[in-house]
Amino acid sequence: MTQEWIREILDRTDCVRFSGSAEEKAAAEYLKSLCEAQGAAAWLEPFDVAAAEIRSECLTADGKEIPCRGYLLCGSGSVEAPLCYLPNTDAASIASAKGKIVLLDSSLTYWLYHDLLDAGAVGFITYAGNVHYADRDIDRIALRPYVSHGRKALCARINAKDAFDLVQAAPKMVCIQIDQTEYTAQSQNVIAEVPGRTDEWITLTAHYDSTSLSHGAYDNMTGCIGLLGVLEALKEKAPLRYGLRFIFCGSEELGLLGSKAYTAAHAGELEKTALNINLDMIGTYMGRFIARVSAEEKLVHFLEYFSAQRGWGMDARQDIYSSDSTPFADRGVPALSFARLATPSQAVIHTRYDTKHLISEGQMIADTEFITAFTLGMADAAKCPVSREIPEAVKEKLDEYLLRKRKKEG
Ligand SMILES: [Zn+2]
Repeated sequence: MTQEWIREILDRTDCVRFSGSAEEKAAAEYLKSLCEAQGAAAWLEPFDVAAAEIRSECLTADGKEIPCRGYLLCGSGSVEAPLCYLPNTDAASIASAKGKIVLLDSSLTYWLYHDLLDAGAVGFITYAGNVHYADRDIDRIALRPYVSHGRKALCARINAKDAFDLVQAAPKMVCIQIDQTEYTAQSQNVIAEVPGRTDEWITLTAHYDSTSLSHGAYDNMTGCIGLLGVLEALKEKAPLRYGLRFIFCGSEELGLLGSKAYTAAHAGELEKTALNINLDMIGTYMGRFIARVSAEEKLVHFLEYFSAQRGWGMDARQDIYSSDSTPFADRGVPALSFARLATPSQAVIHTRYDTKHLISEGQMIADTEFITAFTLGMADAAKCPVSREIPEAVKEKLDEYLLRKRKKEG
């Protein structure tokens, strides 16, 4: 793993890699070739994703057009209604949405969406960006099928500047028109294997897709490069006791779809999977190193000792992480995510500002060495010591995150 090699991968993948797109597929093929170049068997595993092509989209306020992007998968048609800006989402605020098109400060989450539809809301506007940025970008997002559950309503996304102007102008009527074709596209995971001395596995995951305007260098080509670095270092030492399975996940940005597809397709093998190690955003010049452990508390303590022995700064905590470790933990595989988290004033993900210029090759190498040392210890252990029991506190967070249970307010 050299600085030049890291730079080359960042250069070669310097483009948007949206779920189900040709660019996502090309990145998958490229990652596969990089694994094969290291002598590892590698292949693609395709899976279906809901997709849409928007033909037209329009938002007007009292007849004046506002630049917008319709949500993918929110249906087609036209809706006109009074505007209702809802900065709060308490019961009284939600009740005022009847017959209105609702402008929200937050994203359209599952419970909020259904509460507002139940209250009679007829359309939704959310916004992206920042009133102080020079750009007027609006990223393309989807009304995810597991959020809508088939209850569609027209949703438009606008820029933060226009959201401010819209509230200030207080128009009487707003109108959303969207025309789109919804279809099934294919995304894919890339899998590479380094067999061990037993039939048990440790999986390592990192997603390689990006959101609609982001080149996803930080989020998350860095995690993919980290995986390739671990592969290179541990291929040398193979066979270890545990086999290593490297999974470069597609479509994470649309709701962890790659890791959900992997854990569903390989459900029968998860019993023999001792641990999942996920990388999502590492190697930036600035930012603190964290571990989020969806497993027993003992692993948190171990990581604290392990990092302290190396003089390695780390914030380790038992928690779930909004990334590909979560579907593993949900199926009973102890899982953890590593990340180097930059503050939003240094690195704003899911925007045009997530570029290769944020990435330090030296930090990429250091982060990968740390992760490799941790992985080696677990993969060559006489028996991976992490208990297979997922603690109740983690299970509760999984239930909330995966929308099986409503999070208690406050
Ligand atoms: Zn990510």
